[in-house]
Amino acid sequence: MAEEILQVKGLHKSFGNLHVLKGIDTQVSKGEVVAIIGPSGSGKSTFLRCLNLIEEPEQGQILFNGIDITAKTAKAHEMREQMGMVFQSFNLFPHLNIIDNITLALVKVKKLPRLEAEEIGMKLLERLRLTDKAKEYPGNLSGGQQQRIAILRALAMNPKIMLFDEPTAALDPEMVGEVLDVIKQLAEEGMTIVIVSHEMSFVREVSTRVMFMDEGVICEQNSPEELFKNPTSARTKDFLRKIL
Ligand code: ADP
Ligand code: MG
Repeated sequence: MAEEILQVKGLHKSFGNLHVLKGIDTQVSKGEVVAIIGPSGSGKSTFLRCLNLIEEPEQGQILFNGIDITAKTAKAHEMREQMGMVFQSFNLFPHLNIIDNITLALVKVKKLPRLEAEEIGMKLLERLRLTDKAKEYPGNLSGGQQQRIAILRALAMNPKIMLFDEPTAALDPEMVGEVLDVIKQLAEEGMTIVIVSHEMSFVREVSTRVMFMDEGVICEQNSPEELFKNPTSARTKDFLRKIL
């Protein structure tokens, strides 16, 4: 059986009176690329944020590598280090240059010596042919470059899973491809990925499973071929008709 990285059982989350996640049950195995699609406000971001405990789930369980990270005794920060997260807005530190952005957590959290951290950072920049940007500040880079740096910053921590929340939604159209290419490369290297994205040709090509969320539940999940060709729920059909 495939090794399960995440198991989610009966996950609920409310903000005040607003019941956003209404019982999510799913699992993610090693090497899977799970794409989450669904209408705005359906709880996709809240779900991702619960997975790495940026939001505290109010009910249910999340097991990460078999460990219940929702247990009172769980060490949230240690677990979070093993999950890379990339948001729609790149969230680089504007006052730090690129190499310092990438190495900050390696030095502060992982306590690596600065030189060792910089070596890791430069190797990552090399992969994307961005070494000449090491001493630049985020504000001098294009959105596509900033988002690729944000991905490198997450990868520097050597995560077991990468979570992406609409990573290309804030980009100018001509920069979407360069960011999706990096994610595709990660997928091909076997990284376990959960990604919210409405870039349907990317989802079709790269994901191993598509999850359709609506009103706080997973309505339907299937291989991209099946889900796009033969959606079973009326809500999935309706959503796909609108966006495809
Ligand atoms: P999606 O990512 O699918 O668009 P979200 O998870 O961002 O959906 O939001 C789901 C619902 O939860 C929305 O109605 C949103 O306004 C609400 N919501 C999200 N985060 C918060 C928050 N921190 N406080 C209050 N309401 C929130
Ligand atoms: Mg969202």
